[in-house]
Amino acid sequence: MDVGAGICCNVCMLATEARRRGGVSRAARLTPLERAVAAMRAARGRWSRTTPAERQAIGRRLVEARRRRVPLMAASEWVAQQPPQACDRCGSLDVRPYRAHPLETHKAPLWRCRRHATAPAASYVCLAYRRPVEMSRSGRS
Ligand SMILES: [Zn+2]
Repeated sequence: MDVGAGICCNVCMLATEARRRGGVSRAARLTPLERAVAAMRAARGRWSRTTPAERQAIGRRLVEARRRRVPLMAASEWVAQQPPQACDRCGSLDVRPYRAHPLETHKAPLWRCRRHATAPAASYVCLAYRRPVEMSRSGRS
């Protein structure tokens, strides 16, 4: 809590900047295990002040982020010359080649049907990711 003029509180009378420097120099002297235990205690302290409703809301947001999927990027034409394979999820033969990851442009493509042409956003989206045009126009996520 900042009382004003960079002073942490009226009890210790330390400036906020001095307290920050002290924390950094103390952390540098701790072992990784001691830092991990301190971080665990800090996290438990933060979670102990939340209500069950807040915990449920945070848990729901984390699950949604884990389950969120994005459309796969089409593989390059050079890679798409390979003989097609069945969809590795359902076995359908109506497939298209997609990049396994946006940065893996010359790796063997993923052969997927339209229904299974998605990937987890958490692992697939990166700076190179471009949402396919036909998927974004139809409003699918
Ligand atoms: Zn499929």
